[in-house]
Amino acid sequence: MTNHAPEGLPQVIRHWIGGRPADAADGRTFDVTDPVTNTAYAQAARGSAADIERAVTAARAAAAEWAQLSNRARAHVLHRVADAVESRHDRLARFESYDSGLPITQARGQARRAAENFRYFADVIVALGEEAFRQGGDQISYVVRTPAGVAGLITPWNTPFMLESWKLAPALAAGCTLVLKPAEWTPLSASLWPEIFAEAGVPDGVVNLVHGIGDEAGQALVDHPDVPLISFTGSTGTGRHIIRSAAEHLKTTSMELGGKSPVVVFADADADAALNSVVFGVFSLNGERCTAGSRVLVERPLYEEFTRRLAERAARVIVGPPSDPATEVGALVHPEHYERVLGYVESGRKEARLVAGGTRPAHLPDGNYLQPTVFADVARGARIFQEEIFGPVVAVAPFDDETEAVELANATQYGLAAYIWTRDLRRGHRIAHAVESGMVWINSHNVRDLRTPFGGVKASGVGREGGAHSIDFYTESKIVHVALGEVHTPRFGAAS
Ligand code: NAD
Repeated sequence: MTNHAPEGLPQVIRHWIGGRPADAADGRTFDVTDPVTNTAYAQAARGSAADIERAVTAARAAAAEWAQLSNRARAHVLHRVADAVESRHDRLARFESYDSGLPITQARGQARRAAENFRYFADVIVALGEEAFRQGGDQISYVVRTPAGVAGLITPWNTPFMLESWKLAPALAAGCTLVLKPAEWTPLSASLWPEIFAEAGVPDGVVNLVHGIGDEAGQALVDHPDVPLISFTGSTGTGRHIIRSAAEHLKTTSMELGGKSPVVVFADADADAALNSVVFGVFSLNGERCTAGSRVLVERPLYEEFTRRLAERAARVIVGPPSDPATEVGALVHPEHYERVLGYVESGRKEARLVAGGTRPAHLPDGNYLQPTVFADVARGARIFQEEIFGPVVAVAPFDDETEAVELANATQYGLAAYIWTRDLRRGHRIAHAVESGMVWINSHNVRDLRTPFGGVKASGVGREGGAHSIDFYTESKIVHVALGEVHTPRFGAAS
């Protein structure tokens, strides 16, 4: 079965520094492959410390002009960025799907969400005020926010364009100039940013893109002394490493890391709605989703029936070429990741009861395809219960009461999202408060509200993004105290 290559695929993907395309200073490149043929279709510039240096210099040179614009003027530019994203949404979706293996129908949604991020943060800064504090008639104190400096943005390969926009939009809204290092497995959609920013009239040097490998270009960005803040989305291990490196220059960091989010289904839940949500929550975006509900905990009376229905649905999920509009699960991003996911499936076979999937679909002999996989009776100590798989694999386990549900939900190192299904709303809230996670949905799948805090606890992250949290991250708040009346200062050294 063929995966159709989009028209206009570039053969070379360059950096973008100071408003111009650039090759790596040392001329090196790396292969860009697609997840169906796993062969190189393009070469991307392989950034090094020299390229990061050029990009940071360009970002510093552009900083004053961008920061001095009024919030309204920056918001206009952000709306034009959103227009430019929307006008390319078809090409963008095709590029994203081809490079990352996301089903084309789901890649389409990502382009819309990316545009919405720019519109939302444009609105935020226009509405933003600065706080003032009054102490009677004696003193008034007010906050002045300034852009925090050149922002370093480092992003992962899952929904790459949308996640890049999730950092680009607030950084630009806050008045920062920046250097973005996109994930090396999926640089294709990022190759559209230069024409988007140029069309929107973003001044040269405000946005700089350096492609490359994590421990080369990414590390150089983290180590650069003139980049005071790093916003990172990626794996927990890399996040830990970046925090250690960033400590050298006392950088501010925001860490959006891995997850192993529980879905807690009580016997009184709307089982059909819960089932639809579980299937979509763990198998959409190929299961390569940080907030995937990858551990399904079901109250004992519903357990057997729910597990059986989940297995039946998983077996019927349509796995196919990413470019086919009928495809529900496409190809996993890279052979290295595919092998890792298959390794977890092998562990699962020894640790639990395989009730669906576990193999490559027979009609897809090549490419990184896996039939959605369901393991039942998974013990809390099992690797497939504890570790983030980041693929279309779900672990199901029973619980007997509310206390055990909470214990199991909290029994991993992660704490990103949680989903609760029950008709008893008092219980729903109780569980929501007891679960250790940054985000909880009750009787709903992952529906975002851009105003709300986004992020995780425990090994799932440090800090929050979204709404005012993002603006806080990308700005420094200075407090200015002004005396309004007489100042009564103790007169040291004035004794006669
Ligand atoms: P990764 O940690 O391997 O890579 C992420 C980015 O970090 C890439 O751009 C990579 O090049 C860069 N990088 C790697 N080493 C680096 C270093 N030493 N210094 C600087 N940069 C470095 O993660 P991944 O495999 O691309 O992404 C998948 C992970 O991302 C999963 O764990 C997933 O849960 C997580 N994720 C989290 C969220 C969230 O919001 N919490 C969202 C999406 C993905």
